[in-house]
This record gives sequence, C-alpha cells and structure tokens, in this order.
Amino acid sequence: MVAAQNGAPAEIKYTQLLIDGKWVDAVSGKKFPTIDPRSEEVIVEVAEADAADVDIAVKAARKAFDEGPWPKMPARERGKIIWKLAELIEQNVDELARLETLDNGKPLSISRAVDVPHVVKHFQYFAGWADKIQGKTIQADGPFLAYTLHEPIGVVGAIIPWNFPLAMFAWKVAPALACGCTIVLKSAEQTPLTALYVGQLALEAGVPPGVLNILSGYGPTAGAALARHLDVDKVAFTGSTEVGQKIMTMAGETNLKRVTLELGGKSPFIVCEDADLDEAVELSHFALFFNQGQCCCAGSRTFVHESIYDQYVEKAVARAQRRKVGDPFEAASEQGPQVDGEQMTKILGYIAAGQKEGAKLATGGKRVGDKGFYIEPTIFTGVADDMSIAKEEIFGPVMCAFKFKTLEEVVERANRSCYGLAAGIFTKNLDTAHYLSRALRVGTVWINTFDNFDASIPFGGYKMSGIGREHGEYALENFTQVKAVVTALKNPAWV
Ligand code: NAD
Repeated sequence: MVAAQNGAPAEIKYTQLLIDGKWVDAVSGKKFPTIDPRSEEVIVEVAEADAADVDIAVKAARKAFDEGPWPKMPARERGKIIWKLAELIEQNVDELARLETLDNGKPLSISRAVDVPHVVKHFQYFAGWADKIQGKTIQADGPFLAYTLHEPIGVVGAIIPWNFPLAMFAWKVAPALACGCTIVLKSAEQTPLTALYVGQLALEAGVPPGVLNILSGYGPTAGAALARHLDVDKVAFTGSTEVGQKIMTMAGETNLKRVTLELGGKSPFIVCEDADLDEAVELSHFALFFNQGQCCCAGSRTFVHESIYDQYVEKAVARAQRRKVGDPFEAASEQGPQVDGEQMTKILGYIAAGQKEGAKLATGGKRVGDKGFYIEPTIFTGVADDMSIAKEEIFGPVMCAFKFKTLEEVVERANRSCYGLAAGIFTKNLDTAHYLSRALRVGTVWINTFDNFDASIPFGGYKMSGIGREHGEYALENFTQVKAVVTALKNPAWV
C-alpha cells in the first residue's frame, strides 16, 4: 500500500490482474511501474499481463458468456447490478478521484467534480437501457412473421487510453454490460490504478466472475494479444489513429472480430465576428487547455474572424498567462503535469517544430521547473495551415490561433484535415451556427459550448477520427448483433 504525498491519501489497494472474479499475478510474474507525473517517482508496481494472461482472461470471459448467467438473466436484474456499481463508484468518489489524479496528473478538483460523477452517470444511464434493448417486427412480403433480436455480441476486448482512464473505462464497460456481453479490458500502461479499483467494486456490486476481467499491461504485448485473439468477438478501442489502424488489421487478419474505434482529432474552434469576445476567449481556452490539452476532441485549431483577431489574441494570451499550473492536489491548480515524460517530450518537440517552421510563439513554450512533466500554457499565432502544429495532434497545452475572413473559407480550411472528431462554433447568429454545423465534416458540433459530454449524446468521429458511436442508444449497436427470425404462417389472419 502506498500513501500519496502532499496529504493526498490515495491508498493503492489493487495491483494484480482481475481474472474470473479473482485477483491474480501475471503468469510470468512480471510487474511494471506506474509513475507519479508530479514527481517522476514510482507510485507502485502492478502485475504485467501479456499474451498468456490475455488468453486466460478471454477463456474466463468466454465461459461466462457461454455458460454463465450474465447474458441470460432477466435484463432488469442486470440493470440493477449496473446501477449498484454506479452507487458504489459514487460512494468511493474521493478515493477514486485521488487515485485518478495520482496516476494521471489531472487536478483533483476536476477528477472529483467532473471525471468520477461523469462515470457514475454513465453507469446509471446504461443501467436504464439494460431492459430496453429490443428488435423490431417486420412487415415481410407474404405469409411470414419476421422479427429481429438484438443479441449481445459476446466477448468484448476493450483497450483504452490514459487521458480519461475512468471515463474511457465507463464508455466501454457500461454499455457492454447492459447488452449482456462479457469483457476483457486492458487499461493504458500509464494509468492502470482506477480500472483495478472499479473492478473490485464491480465484484461487490454482483457482477458475476468472468464477466469483467481487467488487465494492466502494454499495447504491443497484451493489447495486441487481445486484438488478435480468436475468441474475442469484438474490440472496442480508444486511442491514437495509428494504433487504431493496427487494430483493424489485426482483427481482419484473425477472425474478423467487430471493431469500433475512437481515435484522434484536430478539432476546429471557430470564433465568429459577432462573438462576445470575453466569453469566446474563456470557452476557447477551456476547449484547448482542459485536461492539460490531452483531449481527443481538444479545440486545437482556433479560427478567429479577422475583425477581432488581434483583440482575441491579446486576451487569449493574458488568459493563458493567468492559468495556474501546479501540483494537481492543490486546490488552486487549473493544470497539472502531462501524463508522462514521453508525452512531455513529444509536446516540447512540436513547440520547437512550430518555431522552426516560422510560427510566432505568443506565450509559453517551455517546461515548468525540472521535476514533474509540467508545460507552460502555450499559444502560437502566425500559423500556416500546412505546418506540423496545424495538422498533427499535439495532445498538449498548445493552442494555434488562425485568422479567417469568410465562413466558406473557414469551412474549407477546417475540413482540410484527415480528422473529423468535433468542432466548436462561437456565434450569436443562428444562420451562421446552422450553416457551419451542416458544413463541417465532424461527428460532434458544439455551439456556444464545448466538451459537452452526456451519456445520452452520441460521440465519435468522421474520417480518421474513428468508426462507430459511443454514448446513447447508438452505443448499444457496438455491443449487440441483429438476428432475423422468419416463421412461415400456415393461417395468417392477414398478410
Ligand atoms: P495509444 O494508441 O498509444 O494507446 C491507446 C491504448 O492502445 C493503450 O491501452 C495502449 O497500450 C494500446 N496499444 C498501443 N499499441 C497497441 C498495439 N500495437 N496493439 C494493441 N493495443 C495497443 O494512444 P494514447 O497515447 O494512450 O492515447 C492518446 C490518443 O487517444 C490520442 O490520439 C487521442 O486523440 C486518442 N483518444 C481518443 C478519444 C476518442 O474518444 N476519440 C478519447 C481519448 C483519447
């Protein structure tokens, strides 16, 4: 057990693998360290799953699906267990928030007020769906009764990233459980701790052994073994576009398991000429800097109308300079460290590339201190559309502010990206808002709001930002398959 620093008692209770309802060591006996991004010190070592552990976990999930009660029990009972899990997460909000902050570096105030409550609502929302998953009756041609069953897809392999460890867990696990699937989840190697904690809560809530198996481990070993496994029916992946492409290939080369992908982005945030400037500055600041800039949907291309661009930049720079960067356990901190040294180095590399390619560094640009992975809130102006910082996902606190003249022009530039995850529009003009929301090729449009996530609202990408939608009724499609049943009627009352 480890007591966290700075008066932050985050006890580490679970470090093993959760397989078939039991806590076990890896077959190899190997462990790997998870690092505190504030201090760069080891928090704890956790069991390291590889292909052998994946195989055991998949067998447990297979057995739980084929022979266990979960897919066949009354759906309402399943819903009650999922709701109970939500309640247990809610009761453990403080412990979970501290663990999340310790492992990931996000401000404790955010873990507590945003991440954990979001996860609670997610499980509650999908608990409600459990007994409302239903097919259709179909008016077929002739004396036949035709209907569809929406059946659980089977064993789900879930692979998630580190930027919202708990939320990503919930986005996969809550709908999969509601649909009656069994799951093997591999958390991100940077942030294994909260998934393990919720695994224990799931057992306490009554999720039967083998239904939810949780593995800590690395991508090319444990992740790839899951994506390639012949007894996995579906992979639900969130992470980088590059790895998403590999997952598709692995699924294709093995058993054509179903694949859904939530991938990267380079989302435009468009500030129109009629915008209230102070509000636009605040919202665009949030859109980019929230979660240390580590959001798939970060508003990382800030397009500002030329008539207000100079004033905008002046105010956006002042706001970025006021942003409080510091220990995420301190109440005043708005921004903690990046998740690890690799991410920090990558982001600083993009900042150097931006300067080299000729963009103007309006503020920030440097590491903060020499311990912990902190980076100054950074803004570039004078960014050309073909620079690497304009095109590639930086995944850090680096804003690029572009100037635009006409709506047609901003649509063309915003759409000129391989990504299409989300977009923000800031305007008071209804016509402008509707024009832009239709014209932008993205999966989510936020008008005068941003990062507005609700369990009921679908989320997912156009283009290389992904395949499929999470949240809402749409998420059920990811974890069910449609069976058509056709019966010949000897004596139909009518046809
Ligand atoms: P990543 O792709 O490197 O890792 C994601 C997960 O995939 C991790 O669990 C990792 O261990 C695993 N993985 C890595 N290589 C693998 C392989 N060869 N086979 C199987 N699994 C493998 O991404 P990351 O750096 O952890 O996360 C950041 C990325 O995630 C960003 O691109 C971000 O945009 C994206 N993301 C997208 C969403 C969304 O909803 N669209 C949400 C959060 C993050």
